[in-house]
Amino acid sequence: MASVPFLTLAATACTPSTEAEQPWIVDRFDDIKVIRYEVPAFEELPLEQKELIYYLQEAAKCGRDILFDQNCAINLPVRRTLETIYLNYAGDRETAEWKALEKYLKKVWFANGIHHHYSNDKFKPEFSEEYLLSVIEQVGDAKFGELNEWREAVCRAIFDPTLYPTKLNQKAGDDLLLTSSSNYYAGVTQAEAEAFYAKMAAADKGNPQPVSYGLNSQLTKNDKGEIVERTWYAEGMYGEAIKQIVYWLEKAETVAVEPQKQTIRHLIDYYKTGDLKLFDAYNISWVADTESHVDFVNGFIEDYGDALGRKASWESIVNFKDTEACHRTEVISANAQWFEDHSPINPVYRKPEVKGVSAKVITVAMLGGDCFPATPIGINLPNADWIRRDYGSKSVTIDNITYAYDKAAQGNGFTEEFVLREEDRQRMKEFGKLADDLHTDLHECLGHGSGRLKEGVSPTALGSYSSTLEETRADLFGLYYIGDEKMVELGLVPSFEVAKAAYADYIMNGMMTQLSRIEPGKDVEESHMRNRKLIAEWCYEQGKAENVIEWVVENDKRYIVVNDFEKLRELFGKMLWEIQRIKSEGDFEAGKAMVEKYAVKVDPALHEEVLARYKALNIEPYGGFVNPEYELVKEGDQVVDVKISYPANYTEQMLHYAKNYSFLPNKN
Ligand code: ZN
Repeated sequence: MASVPFLTLAATACTPSTEAEQPWIVDRFDDIKVIRYEVPAFEELPLEQKELIYYLQEAAKCGRDILFDQNCAINLPVRRTLETIYLNYAGDRETAEWKALEKYLKKVWFANGIHHHYSNDKFKPEFSEEYLLSVIEQVGDAKFGELNEWREAVCRAIFDPTLYPTKLNQKAGDDLLLTSSSNYYAGVTQAEAEAFYAKMAAADKGNPQPVSYGLNSQLTKNDKGEIVERTWYAEGMYGEAIKQIVYWLEKAETVAVEPQKQTIRHLIDYYKTGDLKLFDAYNISWVADTESHVDFVNGFIEDYGDALGRKASWESIVNFKDTEACHRTEVISANAQWFEDHSPINPVYRKPEVKGVSAKVITVAMLGGDCFPATPIGINLPNADWIRRDYGSKSVTIDNITYAYDKAAQGNGFTEEFVLREEDRQRMKEFGKLADDLHTDLHECLGHGSGRLKEGVSPTALGSYSSTLEETRADLFGLYYIGDEKMVELGLVPSFEVAKAAYADYIMNGMMTQLSRIEPGKDVEESHMRNRKLIAEWCYEQGKAENVIEWVVENDKRYIVVNDFEKLRELFGKMLWEIQRIKSEGDFEAGKAMVEKYAVKVDPALHEEVLARYKALNIEPYGGFVNPEYELVKEGDQVVDVKISYPANYTEQMLHYAKNYSFLPNKN
């Protein structure tokens, strides 16, 4: 499970922002800023580790096309058509329409397709179809090759608003598969898919270690109209890209040492066969390995993109330990049992024994697939419930990424605009980064792994509400404990002031400022955003009689302020009790009622105000990254070093990836 930042919008310094002072930001367009990140201490790694990173980061780049196709079947032809234009157009590149086309292409790269990476809505082009066709004509058919056959479909995909309107529809009552444009299901209704997997689960009933059915396949119909899975593996769907991934993993295997060698071997075997039992073997081996300095994720991992929470998008992260920063998470992990035993939930749903909670702070060396360019700042894997139960999970927070976010946000005027009270601003400035890091640690290291299901309750009982409720649970765990005296006792925070910084920011974001990420007229869809709104709105209502959280209007501007931080912490605990009960008992109706009541609907007047105030600040609500680049240095056949460099041009990197790491055909 991945966590995305909640404090990233807060400014930590007050100097005015100018381009010259922000070399961290390499590009800005629409609602996006692209940031570069550094990989400190890479140069000091021993040669074998550098070489291992080199092979793993090559593997991390080879699955990029898979994600494009998973997000929508037309994405690769659209991207390639626009790239061909971008590389060959000899006409005027200063016109408004050309600029609009260029911006659209940058957005497609960023979102890995034609739908916004966060809202899931299809992009609206700000250039006309006539203009696109005229530009294509100028370039000439010869440059487009096979893409000529796709022209009509590409134009419709870009310009027809009724086609592929949303990547992921989660509106209760709709057929979530037929109304979602992602490519995980093709020509299959929600009822058909649910029946297909229910039958598979029934056949495996009683197995305490079920594979993650459907994780690595598209569900479709064959010529006879029968429902079948097309598995993603070296000889199946996406095989052309998977073979490349395997090629680099095999290189990595040659320089890895045990037990990591075996982990890589399991992953290769899984990619070669598509056998989900081997994926479980890989995960078990991976989660047990907490010692290897270099680590990686590579595979079909997170299921947020599937309305049924079953199909996983392809992603990869390559990283190594940030030894100095690991102290924080080591302390938290070492006290995992204490946190579990004192968790404000029904004692019968506590884990009697918390297993294998490991946590570390990492330095990312490469981001790929669904972790790029937008990336999580923390990861907790594996996702299979029984592996987490029997073998534990591994949690990481990514320090060089949060550092880069923080640097890019300095001095953007955000806190001055949205935080009413000077004391809150001061606390956010002083403790914001620490509060953010600790919340992520608690969320990832302990939150997701805590609690247990009542016997016989299915882990998928919460259906389409499961992601939101699971993130809610982990966030509440973090919020509750960041204000616990134990944190002071453990030397992790100087005082309750850190919690105050976290709480003020969380409530403001959940009730107000995150609305800047939503288009007018839209509801909240993304599960992390829903979870934040759910927590903030629920606590607001529960604390209303005692004025725990208050709306204040000053100079015609609305502000949300926390008046009683101790009371708010109690409310977090109370809510965690209920959310854990819902999860443990698989109480779908209660979960649905909570999410639909608090987490989805947006107040249009407030939304309009936030958008206007945010726009006036001229800051982009979303951030993503350019990757560093690596090069093998050889003497003869011998690898003697690996060089790292930091490109500062987003477009060049995207074109470089398109040229060198694009392995799939237009139709998959
Ligand atoms: Zn999470």
